[in-house]
Amino acid sequence: MKQSSRNLLLQIITGLMILTLMIWQAKRPRSVELDSGYRQTMGTFARLLVVAPDREAAENSLDAAFAVFDRVEALMSDYDPDSQISRVNRDAYHEPVAVDGQVFEVLSAALEYSRLTDGAFDITVGPVVQLWRDARQGGQAPTPEAIARARENVGYRYLELDPETQTVRFGRDGMLLDVGGIAKGYALDRAAEAMRQAGALGAMIDIGGDIVCFGQAVGGRDHWLIGLQDPDEDGNLLLRLKIDDRAVATSGDYRRFVVVDDRKHSHIINPATAEAAEALASVTIIAATAMHADALATAASVMGPEKALTLIESIDHTEAILIPGDRPQDILKTSGAADTIE
Ligand code: AMP
Ligand code: MG
Repeated sequence: MKQSSRNLLLQIITGLMILTLMIWQAKRPRSVELDSGYRQTMGTFARLLVVAPDREAAENSLDAAFAVFDRVEALMSDYDPDSQISRVNRDAYHEPVAVDGQVFEVLSAALEYSRLTDGAFDITVGPVVQLWRDARQGGQAPTPEAIARARENVGYRYLELDPETQTVRFGRDGMLLDVGGIAKGYALDRAAEAMRQAGALGAMIDIGGDIVCFGQAVGGRDHWLIGLQDPDEDGNLLLRLKIDDRAVATSGDYRRFVVVDDRKHSHIINPATAEAAEALASVTIIAATAMHADALATAASVMGPEKALTLIESIDHTEAILIPGDRPQDILKTSGAADTIE
């Protein structure tokens, strides 16, 4: 080819490239990103990142999510005597207590997780959790007698849910519900839904380390990336997970624990023994919904490494990353977990 025609061809190609770029720029949807910062809710902190077509949609999406958290907290907090869960805890042995559809949904799901995990997850673990909470305040471990007494009042099989009347009833006196192992996940799923409806193109929603991500990621990145913390060393990043249109929940004794008799006790209780579950320092579950991830992370902490791996491996679209309590021991993963690790 002659030099002049080569130059012409080059000019045409460059011109075409510039034109393509201009069309692409014009067509690319402009978007706004907002960071809510950390805000206190549901007994912990929540932080949201949102991507939206404009500022108004971004702000509306954040407001919609926080409205969901406020509603879930008002319905389900056991620190609030006026919440529906507190009312159930007070009255459900004496009479059936009618609850809101959202509460009924969480309790119904909780029963399914109890069956699925053979009672490792148990929403009626309240009496034992309460006992350990009191121990934290007194600085002394509960007596074996007190533990045995509390344990008698734990059992998801004594929880009666009537879908017709949306009522809750306790089969034993002294039962107490504790939604701490599932409510964050439920709130995350509802918040993601509310944000989409409010116009969000994408978001990362974090409540106390349980996270759901959907849609477009911030900074034009291809994926939402979530860091997994080392339970041993404060703040050390262990690995990064790609969480697109999925949720990740982490349970572990490094995140919350009670110090009594100079010993750390996990806030997660093995309902079979009424003792703290301590085989795993950290359990991370990756799943399609946050409620699924949340409940299974709590359950897996109780089940210990072998049983937890077998169970999670058997559930579709659900992965686990388990960090044993006795380090240095290998991190255990389900076979599909590697795909989510960056
Ligand atoms: P998470 O951080 O999601 O693992 O939830 C831990 C919280 O769940 C605890 O603080 C208790 O309120 C509650 N909990 C503890 N043990 C259990 C259990 N075996 N099943 C269900 N909930 C539990
Ligand atoms: Mg949980």
